Amino acid sequence: MKYTAPRGTRDILPADSWKWQHVERVFRDTAERFGYKEIRFPVFEETELFARGIGDSTDIVRKEMYTFPDRKGRSLTLRPEGTASVVRSFIEHNMGRGAQVTKLRYFCPMFRYERPQAGRYRQFWQWGLEALGSLSPAIDAEIILFSVRFFEGLGIKGTEARINSAGCPSCTPAYNDLLKKELASKLERFCDDCRERYERNPRRMFDCKNENCQTLLSDAPSILDALCDECRDHFAHVEKHLRAVSVPYVIDSGLARGLDYYTKLGAQSALCGGGRYDELTSELGGKPTPACGVSAGVERLISALEEEGAFQDAAPGPDIYLVAGSDGAAGSNVTLAARLRETFSVEMDYQGRSFNKQMQEAGRMNARFVLVNQGEGEPLKLREVATGWEASPGEEELEAAIRDRERESR
Ligand code: AMP
Repeated sequence: MKYTAPRGTRDILPADSWKWQHVERVFRDTAERFGYKEIRFPVFEETELFARGIGDSTDIVRKEMYTFPDRKGRSLTLRPEGTASVVRSFIEHNMGRGAQVTKLRYFCPMFRYERPQAGRYRQFWQWGLEALGSLSPAIDAEIILFSVRFFEGLGIKGTEARINSAGCPSCTPAYNDLLKKELASKLERFCDDCRERYERNPRRMFDCKNENCQTLLSDAPSILDALCDECRDHFAHVEKHLRAVSVPYVIDSGLARGLDYYTKLGAQSALCGGGRYDELTSELGGKPTPACGVSAGVERLISALEEEGAFQDAAPGPDIYLVAGSDGAAGSNVTLAARLRETFSVEMDYQGRSFNKQMQEAGRMNARFVLVNQGEGEPLKLREVATGWEASPGEEELEAAIRDRERESR
């Protein structure tokens, strides 16, 4: 019997997990600067939350949820995305009370029963931000600017936002009717899914990946011509804010998102997508609360970074690889390592390998310094691997020597 990770899941091993840590660190630092606090919500929720929150007609709810009864027969579902859980938590903890705007972030695994293929997994990670409690277009623009800054922090330059309005309940019904009227004569040329979307929510057809459907939609009426005054004004202000902070953007009226809750604004590029969901909080039983968010897949981001060569530097190694220069030194390395580890990251040999093997291992691990312990009464030998710089500090001088060296090479 051989066990393997379940279909559609995978292990992230140390050769890659440092990349994930880097992305998570940049995400966290950027989110802190923008004032988005971390929320951690359960891995599973009541199924009904997602059915209502994401929408019965979405692919996620219809085909992709990991739903199971627990031992008492309650229907639970592994979270397929974050927004519904965040809104549930916002309502449950009455977070809107007093606070002007509640700004939250998350970075965690999601679960969808999809056909595994390149870049598609059944357990995958998403990062996301949600801002609840403000109708201001400044929030929409802030979330877009966050995304740009986050990607810049990772070394991705030249991103461009694609924006559209998704309207609101006062302007979308008339637009939906218009869209249906315009598309009625071509309906049988659309794919099966689109014909179903036509009945349930025709705007969802814009989200179809089928090229033929996209061509058929190319001269469909634009939602931007059908907006109510309030939505038109909101959109104009988002544009104004984006221009003010020099975020390049293009308007793409064919832009749609595969989730039911978006209103007013949708923004998406290959790297992230988001928008307003002003109706969702009341839909889930809370006080009406305007809200706006963004989320995206981490796997996709990491492969984009790999393609850009952002991880060309090898995985960071330990500060010090401690080499035993004699048999006696191997024993005292245990205590020396323990002391050094109060300040530095330290690796060492545990298998009694030869001096040369240990030196090779230090290189393989990408250690910054090699420290040779030559045994009782002998001086330590410190060597910077990249440059060959050497010194013989006493143990008490070691920290200062390393710090000096770091300062000099900066
Ligand atoms: P969605 O919530 O469907 O709008 O998806 C947002 C992003 O999450 C996508 O653009 C992908 O980057 C990522 N994503 C969604 N489903 C998967 C999956 N099965 N595997 C990997 N990434 C996914």
